[in-house]
Parts: sequence; structure tokens; C-alpha cells
Amino acid sequence: MSLTKVVRDIRARQKVKYNPPDRPTAVWTGKDLLDGKPIPTLTVIFQTSGCRWNSCSMCGYVYDSAARPPSHDELMKQFEYAVSRCKDEEFTVKIFTSGSFLDDGEIPAETRIEMLSRLGADGRVKKVIAETRPEYVTHERLSEAVSALGKRFEVAIGLETSNDMIRSDSINKGFSFSDFTSACEVAGQEGVSVKAYLLLKPVFLSEGAAVNDIISSINDTAPYAGTISVNLCNVQRGTLIEEMFERGDYRPPWLWSAVEVLEKGKRSNPDTVIISDPVGAGSARGPHNCGKCDKDVAEAIRVFSLTQDTGVFEKLDCECRELWRQVVELEDFTFGAPVIL
Ligand code: SF4
Ligand SMILES: [Zn+2]
Repeated sequence: MSLTKVVRDIRARQKVKYNPPDRPTAVWTGKDLLDGKPIPTLTVIFQTSGCRWNSCSMCGYVYDSAARPPSHDELMKQFEYAVSRCKDEEFTVKIFTSGSFLDDGEIPAETRIEMLSRLGADGRVKKVIAETRPEYVTHERLSEAVSALGKRFEVAIGLETSNDMIRSDSINKGFSFSDFTSACEVAGQEGVSVKAYLLLKPVFLSEGAAVNDIISSINDTAPYAGTISVNLCNVQRGTLIEEMFERGDYRPPWLWSAVEVLEKGKRSNPDTVIISDPVGAGSARGPHNCGKCDKDVAEAIRVFSLTQDTGVFEKLDCECRELWRQVVELEDFTFGAPVIL
């Protein structure tokens, strides 16, 4: 049975929750780095028909998608609602769709151009970052987007790992590293920067293999992406990861693993912005350590993401760090099955 079939079977058993079609799935404000300085960020997840690929082992975003494709007017209402949430004098905008902003099937070209033109005309907006799979990164779509926006545009691609075998056999992502690098070339030619998301610890990898995978992936990806964001895998509802987690066959990554990859990745690639938002840190379904040190380690990861200073990790310690070192060694003998949950 293929991984796609397994993932699709799990998805078929879930319910999609109802959201009014003129409201985005989510919108929130935070802080991100722009040219070395923290700047307010408005993040919006538009409610669209959802990701066309819809087959990744860790992804529960599909359950946020709309029951029917929203109209142009509904999408523009979602947009207006989102922009009205940010009161800062200047900010960047991060656009997610639980899929691909550049996929015409999710956001029709006309709607995309109108959104970008409005953001272009809004003097407070300094940069726009939009998430997409690499197959939608074409010269035509990017040049349309760049001329509508008239300011800095970045595509954010969920590469997950530079290792084609892990991306295929653990994540079922459906594209290769060379698809990613081709998209980066197109983006570069259109004056669009690239952010890459990497995924620490998909299923079927031991803690140590996951750490080594992301350290190599940062090194392989840095020549193509100005920013690398390391996502620490958390257990989302209705996913293959959740089924394995409930059987005791999967443990989210240790926060010490995140510290290790951020420290080593930054040291080897000082000119690349390397960030991580430890979503769900400290909970059983999110990245966690022993419970006592989770808050401090997660906070250090947040501070590092805004300062790029690996010195924030030097003061951290806890008795569980030695246990983590042993887990990194021992899990290779259990073929990735967790030795401690
Ligand atoms: S490509 Fe992205 S949105 Fe689509 S299933 Fe995979 S992780 Fe989810
Ligand atoms: Zn601890």
C-alpha cells in the first residue's frame, strides 16, 4: 500500500470544520526579522479549497479548508478582515492558504493580483511572503505578482529536507530537491527571494537521524534560500503521525535537538537567517524535553530566531540533556521507535 493511500484513507475519516467563507481560517500578529531587525508581522491563513497535493504524512491543514471553493468576493472579504487586524505603523505580511498561494485553483489569478496590488498600495507593508509548493513558482505567476506588489516579495516553500528519500518515504511530499532548486532559480530571475521550511523529525526517523538530516539540509539549502525556518514537528489531528503517536510509535522532537540543529546550522551558515517557532513546545504532541526546562529552551529558540545569536543557547542546561544524548545514540538500535515518550 502506498503512503499516499494510507494518508488519504486517514483523511477520508476526518470531518472538515465549518468556518464562514468570508473569514480567514486564522490571522495573528507576531514579530519576525527584516534586514536584521525585528518587525511586526501579520500572518493570515486564507480559507481556500485547500492543498491540491493533500498527501503529506504530518499535515492536518486540509481540515481547515473550505467546504466549497470561496468566491473572489469572499476571498477579498477574508483579506480585508485580516489586514484590519494589524495596527502597526509598519509590518510584513505572511500569507498561507493551507496549500499554495500561487495555485490558481486555490486563489484565482485575478484575486491574487488584487490582494497584492492592495498590499503594494499600503505604505505600512514592507514585504510580503507567500507560501507555495514549487510547481506553482513560474515566471508568469511571479512576474505578475511582482508587478502588482511593487515591493519585496518572497516565496516560502515547504522543502522539509534536502534528502529526496526522506522527503518521499517519510513525508510523501511529492517533489524533489531539484524541483525546489529549479523554483529557486526562477524566483532569483524574477527578483523574488526564497524562504525554505525544513521539518525536524518526520515519521520513521530516529532522533539522531532527524538531527543529522536537518543539519545537512540547512547546509544544502543555504545556497538557495536567504531564510531557513526549521519547523519542529508536532502531532496534528487526522494525520499518519497522529496514528503512530497514539500507538506509542512516534515522539515529537526534543527541544535539545532543535538547539543542536540551530547552533550547528548557524555556525556553518552565518549569512543565512535561520529561525524556528517552537509551536506547541512543552506539550506531549509538540516538541518537548523533560517538562522542567521546556519553557526556557523554547524561549531561547524564540530569542535566537530574532537575534541570530547562538550565545543564547550557552546558558541552557538541565539534567535531561544527558538523557537526550543517550536517546540520540540508542534510537538507532530501535530503528527509530522512541525509547522514551
Ligand atoms: S504540500 Fe503543504 S499543505 Fe499540502 S499536504 Fe503537504 S504540507 Fe500540507
Ligand atoms: Zn529538562
